[in-house]
Amino acid sequence: MAEIALQDVEKYFGDNYVIRKLNLTIAHKEFVVLLGPSGCGKTTTLRAIAGLETIDTGDIRIDGRPVQDLRPSDRDIAFVFQLYALYPHLTAYDNIAFPLRATRESKAAVDAQVQAVAKSLKIEHLLKVRPSALSGGDMQRIAIGRALVRRPKAMLMDEPIGSLDAKLREDMRSELKRLHIENDSTTVYVTHDQVEAMSLADRVAIMNDGVLQQVGTPGEVYQYPTNLFVAQFIGSPVMNILPVAVRTTGPGTELVVGNNDAVFAFSADLPKHLSQKSYESLMLGVRPEGVLLVPEETPGYIPVKAHIIEPLGAYDIVDLKIGDEYLRSRTPSGMVKRVGDTVWARLDEAQTHFFDTKSGDSLN
Ligand code: ATP
Repeated sequence: MAEIALQDVEKYFGDNYVIRKLNLTIAHKEFVVLLGPSGCGKTTTLRAIAGLETIDTGDIRIDGRPVQDLRPSDRDIAFVFQLYALYPHLTAYDNIAFPLRATRESKAAVDAQVQAVAKSLKIEHLLKVRPSALSGGDMQRIAIGRALVRRPKAMLMDEPIGSLDAKLREDMRSELKRLHIENDSTTVYVTHDQVEAMSLADRVAIMNDGVLQQVGTPGEVYQYPTNLFVAQFIGSPVMNILPVAVRTTGPGTELVVGNNDAVFAFSADLPKHLSQKSYESLMLGVRPEGVLLVPEETPGYIPVKAHIIEPLGAYDIVDLKIGDEYLRSRTPSGMVKRVGDTVWARLDEAQTHFFDTKSGDSLN
């Protein structure tokens, strides 16, 4: 078992808080990714779990046992850093075997464990090589091998593939996923890359400025962001955010965009509390795939002008001008022919979100 629980954890550096009232429980075998912009406190949180950083208040427990007073080496946790931190004078084999040297196990037992880890990482052919002769991806595999060989209760990873090139990162992502499935170790993984987070995590914990914003499965944080920060941090291209006002009409509702006369009709009634807000205090959020376009005039659609077209192969991203506002749409490739063309747009009601402009909180 390895459940990691953080309760009311706070950390200050001088007068500045880096982690504020953090409550997060990572279940046994779970893969949780801490995601957020640079400086939001992810690494400090990870280091606090590992025991490499003290906390000022709160409680960190592993399997119910408080660990604040335990040394890092007594927490049965392995740490993988972005920079491989391999011993340059040792071969890959000896780097992986290193944590086992102190365990007084027989040479044969150590060998069996190193070979098993090397097999699972597909690096058997590299065992005799020293780090200086290895590529970045292979060095990181060795570093992961060294962390795995101890069979730790939990793995903590701080941007472990952040320094690799894009293609290698993609390969390593699937390998990390496979390894987690094979090894079942509770994992806390830090990254600022949302694609990496979404593809690896059972649950994503999104932080900003030391404060946990939302924890949920990748689907939950994508579809039900609790605030504007999460809405805009998750998803690429980012969610459209526009000031709107809600106007109730006979058959349904209208959304007035900004301070102009662009009006989207909604068939459904929107919650009453939304219509009491002015466009200065209400934000509409809609992802590019929720902005539906057709090339010809169609009932229920409003005319908009194509401002920028980005052809991405499988689909196009089209920036549309609506009065003074811009709206980004993800459309079938080639549907919008030229910049300056008029096309017709409507919003997919199921994909609309509403936020309070001031607090940023979701009003859905
Ligand atoms: P990054 O992705 O850039 O590593 P992060 O989200 O992991 O960022 P942390 O490294 O946890 O963020 O740092 C959070 C804040 O704490 C930053 O503003 C950083 O400058 C500050 N900080 C971190 N370590 C120390 C320290 N030892 N002394 C003072 N301030 C620190």
